[in-house]
Amino acid sequence: MGESMSVVTTVRGAIDPADLGRTLVHEHFTFGYPGHEGDRTMWTYDEDDVLARAQRAVAAVRSYGVTTLVDLTPNDCGRDVRLLKEISERFDIQVVATSGYYYEGEGGAPYFKFRRLFADIVAELTELYVTELTEGVEGTGIRTGVMKVATSAGQITDYERATIEAAAAAQQITGAPIVTHTSNGTMGPEQARLLLDLGADPAKVVIGHMCGRSHDVDYQLEVLRLGFGVGFDRIGGTRMFSDVTDDDRMDMVVNLMDRGFSDRIFLSHDSVNHWKGRDAQAFHRLPGVDTWTIARIGDYIIPGLLARGLSEADIDGLLIGNVTSLWQTS
Ligand SMILES: [Zn+2]
Repeated sequence: MGESMSVVTTVRGAIDPADLGRTLVHEHFTFGYPGHEGDRTMWTYDEDDVLARAQRAVAAVRSYGVTTLVDLTPNDCGRDVRLLKEISERFDIQVVATSGYYYEGEGGAPYFKFRRLFADIVAELTELYVTELTEGVEGTGIRTGVMKVATSAGQITDYERATIEAAAAAQQITGAPIVTHTSNGTMGPEQARLLLDLGADPAKVVIGHMCGRSHDVDYQLEVLRLGFGVGFDRIGGTRMFSDVTDDDRMDMVVNLMDRGFSDRIFLSHDSVNHWKGRDAQAFHRLPGVDTWTIARIGDYIIPGLLARGLSEADIDGLLIGNVTSLWQTS
C-alpha cells in the first residue's frame, strides 16, 4: 500500500481497489432503450418490483462471492444512480455507476448529433463525464466510477468517435477506467487502436463483448497484444446475441490464459435485471434466455473453468486481480 492514490468511486463513495473483491464489470440493474420514455403513458415504473429483482440478483452473485457490480448502463439508456445507491445500501453490495453514451444505432445519438451543429460536442461530453466522475450526477452528489463507449457493427461512426474522444480525454483527467461495447464481434481492435491514438491507458480499458464468434482467438489476441483487457462478458447470452456457447467461451478463456494473458481477461454477463417499458419483463420469459442471468458465472462458468484445470486462485485472479488492476495502474 502507499504507492497508489487510486480509489474506486462507488455510488456510496470512494473505496480502496483492494476492497473490490470479486467484481463483475458489465451488468445492468435496469435498462431502457431510448424511446421508452415516450411510452410512459402506457407503463408504470414499479420500484418495488425493481428492488425485489435487484435483491434476487444480489443474492445470486453473493452466492459465488461477488461483492461489487459495475452497472454499465449509459446515460441515454435509463441510467438511475439514485436507484443504484438504494440497491447498494439496502442489499449491501458495492455498485459502480457509469458515464457514457451507447452506440449510434441503439443509443440516444440524436441529441448530441443536433448539438454538433452549433457546439463542440467532444468538449461537452468531456465536461459531462468529468463532472459526473468527480462531482456527481444530476445534482445528487452520487458519482460515477467508470466510462462506457460503444461502436456499431463494422464501423465507428463520426458520432461514436466523438464519444470515444471525450472518454479518452476524461480518462486522462480523472484516471477512470473505460469499459466498451462492441457490436456483432466487430471493431474491437479498431476501438483499441483509436483509444491508444487518443492517449487512453490500455491498462485501464476493457474492450467489451469480445466473446468471439468461433473458437479462433486471433481476434482477442489482436486486442490483448495492444495491452488492453478483453471482456468475455455476455456469458449466458448465447441465444440473445447469436453468440458462441458458454463452453466455447470457457475454451477460449483457457486458451488465452495458456498464452500468457491471464491478467487481462474479464468475465461478466451483460445481464439486464429489469427492462424499462411496457410489460417489458415479458422478455425474461422468452425461450432460450433463461441462462442469461447474473447467476450464470456461479452456476456454470466457475465449475466449468475448474473442470478445465483452473484453480480457485485463477478464478480470483479473473474476478478480483484483473478488475483491481484497472484502478491500480498509474
Ligand atoms: Zn451492457
